[in-house]
Amino acid sequence: MIAAAVLSVLTVSAAPASAASCYGFGRTLSQGASGEDVRQLQIRVSGYPGYGAVLAIDGQFGAGTKAAVTRFQQAYGLGADGVAGPATFAKLSSLEDSDCTPVNFSYAELNRCNSTWSGGAVSAATAKANALVTMWKLQAMRHALGDRAITVNGGFRSYACNSAVGGAAGSRHLYGDAADLGAGSIGFCKLAQQARNHGFSEILGPGYPDHNDHTHLANRSGRFWSAPSCGI
Ligand SMILES: [Zn+2]
Repeated sequence: MIAAAVLSVLTVSAAPASAASCYGFGRTLSQGASGEDVRQLQIRVSGYPGYGAVLAIDGQFGAGTKAAVTRFQQAYGLGADGVAGPATFAKLSSLEDSDCTPVNFSYAELNRCNSTWSGGAVSAATAKANALVTMWKLQAMRHALGDRAITVNGGFRSYACNSAVGGAAGSRHLYGDAADLGAGSIGFCKLAQQARNHGFSEILGPGYPDHNDHTHLANRSGRFWSAPSCGI
């Protein structure tokens, strides 16, 4: 009997994780928690900070993380209590690919410069990590816009790539967190306007020099929003 019980437990614990899941959350997370699992949660709800805000990816589950989890839950019709438990983790898992990118975006879209993510203003690992957060913000934005496709025409640039396209000297593209969006079916202005709700502290679009043909979204310290033709 004991051996059978042990075997049963081993069988359960050996069950494979969801094929789509790249990270297994092992406990319910609520305000006051801290650790790598909180940081992983923050990456995935970084698109839900509220208007004009940016969620810190710091592994500390504070009020901002609770509010972001609550908005995520509301966006997907889950019980909105700001506590991340099995239902929230299951929804997040359904939204991600095996490489941890959200299902509707890929590293390849966020880097049309090189395959190594090197040569920019930060380490390759940091640039790629920054791009991942940007993709989760775009995923939130995409959902808020009715799950309509968002076209990403470029992201990370090495210094060489940035010079080749005439990018600004301190461009956020060098850090990996910038994304240049095509109009698609949504339009530059609606993209720029909606981005204000999803954690982008840098928004440049129509009416800002050299941005009449794309909407540029990124993260930076301090807010820099300018798309005069869109009322921003
Ligand atoms: Zn740009």
